[in-house]
Amino acid sequence: MKGESNHIEKLGESSGRICQNWKKAESTNLGTMPLQDNVWEKKARRMVCVWPGIRQLCLRKNLMYGFMQLFSFPFKTLRGVSRSLGVSHLCSISNMSTSLQIELVPCLKDNYAYLLHDLDTGTVGVVDPSESLPIIDALSKNNRNLTYILNTHHHYDHTGGNMDLKARYGAKVIGSNIDKDRIPGIDISLNDGDTWMFAGHEVHVIATPGHTKGHISFYFPASRVIFTGDTLFSLSCGKLFEGTPEQMHSSLEKLTLLPEDTNIYFGHEYTLSNSKFALAVEPENSELQSYAANIANLRKKHLPTVPTTLKKEKLCNPFLRTSSQAIRSALKIPVDATDAEALGVIREAKDNF
Ligand SMILES: [Zn+2]
Repeated sequence: MKGESNHIEKLGESSGRICQNWKKAESTNLGTMPLQDNVWEKKARRMVCVWPGIRQLCLRKNLMYGFMQLFSFPFKTLRGVSRSLGVSHLCSISNMSTSLQIELVPCLKDNYAYLLHDLDTGTVGVVDPSESLPIIDALSKNNRNLTYILNTHHHYDHTGGNMDLKARYGAKVIGSNIDKDRIPGIDISLNDGDTWMFAGHEVHVIATPGHTKGHISFYFPASRVIFTGDTLFSLSCGKLFEGTPEQMHSSLEKLTLLPEDTNIYFGHEYTLSNSKFALAVEPENSELQSYAANIANLRKKHLPTVPTTLKKEKLCNPFLRTSSQAIRSALKIPVDATDAEALGVIREAKDNF
């Protein structure tokens, strides 16, 4: 189910880690693609590599027959292919903090699934596979198996690929105990505070209800990485389908206690539209102005805005800034309203934006 925005945005616009060569290629290709040629709508599949805690350089080439390339030195490299457009990405990373590799796999219209690859053991997991085919494509191109499927919540656009992937690879499905009756094929159910191991990486389970009752986030402390599904987006939070403003506020509060350099991998590419709402309610926030400009630039180039950082979100995300006088004033939130009440008003305003 849609986590947040109603906008369909063009796939791909990403992080500002782009080299000059890439910019040149971009300006002649996807950068000029009209909106109606939306990549999502064409079911294009593109994977962009993203590594925790790192700046990355991305090279994109327009290739007639999209093919995969892999460099191991001096950069750890991944790439992605948009089949219908024949566009290939090469993303090169200059360093890494752990052996956990993360690969972004766009699914459906605006969902992101994430492949987790432990370089030491070759173990692979996937977070929130909306559908199976893009995941199978990504795995086959590197001749990889799939051991685990991690679901942040039960919505079909986060679990739609579970059964296919489970049947094909024998992967184990991991999700919230609260949603054990709603997550297709669940094998391992986890509770708030549990620690689960992914190929030697500790994974802390953080209950983050609000969007759904059983929503959980997967935090990899050693890699400073968290998968927040539809709870925390860049510049917004998920809609309150099954929870209250109090629950969402409490969930977001938990996330704000993590280290500020935590990289946040979220479930939908909504950041551009989110930035418009954020600017509308806090127009004088200079950090937000700068970030929104960066986001617009990335999206113009069809690059994803994943990952964001907790530090950035604390400075810019209105749902983490419920005590901001500017936001309260813009939305006429009384000074004595609690932060949770303020979040409810901000959420309602966003829903109607
Ligand atoms: Zn959802």
